[in-house]
Amino acid sequence: MNAIVPSTPLTSAADAALMFPTLSAAQIARIASHGVIRPITRGEVLIEGGQADVPFFVLKAGEIEVVRPSGLGDLLVAVVGPAQFTGDVSMLLGRPAQMRLRVSGSGEVVQLTRDQMHALIQADADMSDVLMRALIRRRIALVTQGIGDVLLIGSVHSAATLRIKAFLTRNGHPFKYLDLDRDAEVRELLDRFHVDAAEIPVVICRGEAVLKNPSSQAIADRLGFNQRIDQRHLRDVVIVGAGPAGLSAAVYAASEGLDALVIEASSPGGQAGSSSRIENYLGFPTGISGQELAGRAFAQAQKFGAAVMIAKGAAELSCEPLPYGVRLDDGATIPARTVIIATGARYRKPALANLDLFEGAGVYYNATFMEEAQIGDSDEVVVVGGANSAGQAAVFLARRARRVHVLVRSNSLSESMSRYLTRRIEETPTIQVRTRTEIVALEGNGHLERVHWRDGTGAVTSHEVRHVFMMTGAEASTGWLDGRVALDAKGFIKTGPDLSPEDLAAADWPLERSPYLLETSRPGVFAVGDVRCGNIKRVASAVGEGSIAISFVHRVLAECSSGASSPSAAVPRR
Ligand SMILES: Cc1cc2nc3c(=O)[nH]c(=O)nc-3n(C[C@H](O)[C@H](O)[C@H](O)COP(=O)(O)OP(=O)(O)OC[C@H]3O[C@@H](n4cnc5c(N)ncnc54)[C@H](O)[C@@H]3O)c2cc1C
Repeated sequence: MNAIVPSTPLTSAADAALMFPTLSAAQIARIASHGVIRPITRGEVLIEGGQADVPFFVLKAGEIEVVRPSGLGDLLVAVVGPAQFTGDVSMLLGRPAQMRLRVSGSGEVVQLTRDQMHALIQADADMSDVLMRALIRRRIALVTQGIGDVLLIGSVHSAATLRIKAFLTRNGHPFKYLDLDRDAEVRELLDRFHVDAAEIPVVICRGEAVLKNPSSQAIADRLGFNQRIDQRHLRDVVIVGAGPAGLSAAVYAASEGLDALVIEASSPGGQAGSSSRIENYLGFPTGISGQELAGRAFAQAQKFGAAVMIAKGAAELSCEPLPYGVRLDDGATIPARTVIIATGARYRKPALANLDLFEGAGVYYNATFMEEAQIGDSDEVVVVGGANSAGQAAVFLARRARRVHVLVRSNSLSESMSRYLTRRIEETPTIQVRTRTEIVALEGNGHLERVHWRDGTGAVTSHEVRHVFMMTGAEASTGWLDGRVALDAKGFIKTGPDLSPEDLAAADWPLERSPYLLETSRPGVFAVGDVRCGNIKRVASAVGEGSIAISFVHRVLAECSSGASSPSAAVPRR
């Protein structure tokens, strides 16, 4: 057994009382009615790091140490005392334990299985409030302090390192990062794990498994992100995409008793998750980072019992025979009574010959604190685009960069940019808007070093710029649908009244009724958010459409069970 470092970073934090609240006798009795009471003995390990089914404990008497096990030396993270409880968000997500729980003082606990804990949170609003707040705060503290079961060794010059950092961060998974060029202990660690410096980035999980430059899917598999999800089970609704629209649909579906599964190709949050600060979403007068909004929505969906698959992309919608099936990129097919497509949009890439050489190494499609950390104080940066996302990026990056050049192809910033952003840009002296200007070439050796842009006069000039943020117009993520639903000329999905009689005839629409609002040319298949033709590209509209779609899902399911007119009991029109 490794030596324990005598420190408790979580319990010494300022808001320890909120993370480790003391429950009243009445509250403990309410929790006990959902589980069992049992004795615990000093030295007993209640939960081991990596354990799959993680129970929840409330301490009636005694003491429990929370230890982060690691091949590099265990770390005492917190001590749980009488009337306090164990756990963090992993338990709610059904993911393996990151910590070992060891009894340091004999006593008695109330023990609940994960399902019993879920039932408690859903049934008891007061307890849900206390438990959810503590679990979320604990997770934030672990993420902030980098205390978890993952060690990432990488380099600030490596695009793959940035990708892995972004994946772990956007999934709220705590990790410690060590940089090859900056941290002295890296060489020794690489030797210990038999890794060559040329093989970085490496992810070391639980001090044992070493993954060399792993894909997001390999990390998700190793950390057990999806291990509790039954892929063969027929769901009421399968939601593809976990941006604001998909997460909203998941919250409403699960809270209204539907069996909902979300499939997300990358990380929860979508485009909104890459926003440094959203200031126009109702209820957040001081703004909220996209990542925090996504984290809250993700926890909310889990609280109501929606299942969310991470790092699994939908590759095909199978429509025959019914029920529908969403085939994943790993080959599995998830059966579904109804489907909500919420795959959003992504930035269109400009046609620059060597763009891919610099993606993550000077060219970025997000502007969050992770990309910001790449920038030096004396750097000049370029933001390409004239809409809200570009405006936000410019204002955010101006905090750090010496100068921000905003390159816009048209004569002015887009009319769709919010007034508050144009004013901030005007009032920030280090931001320079260059209209009728576009990048024509990128140059560098391993990392972007220089860009060439053409201005309104046609003159091409060269500039020493190491960071370019591409925030140009978005294209719909509908390639995977391969014509299964009707699209408009730009590839966005047509729904409800936008579907013409010709669209319905071409799709062989089989029902007497017309498609519902948000319903595609396939009965029971809906499209919401940025992926939908005519959608207003805002977080609020994505969230609104996600919730509205669920009311139509209920109608379709009712039609299914009555046999009236449904995708699975389709009544032909002719
Ligand atoms: C930088 C930035 C800043 C912004 N700021 C604001 C703002 O301040 N206010 C505002 O109102 N709006 C803002 N927006 C716009 C807003 O974020 C979008 O309108 C909103 O995110 C759309 O939500 P969505 O769920 O429809 O799609 P998205 O957010 O695009 O989410 C789609 C999700 O689907 C996933 N996906 C795609 N294809 C597949 C597949 N085949 N299988 C599985 N999953 C898939 C993606 O990985 C993604 O997570 C901003 C956008 C950006 C990029």
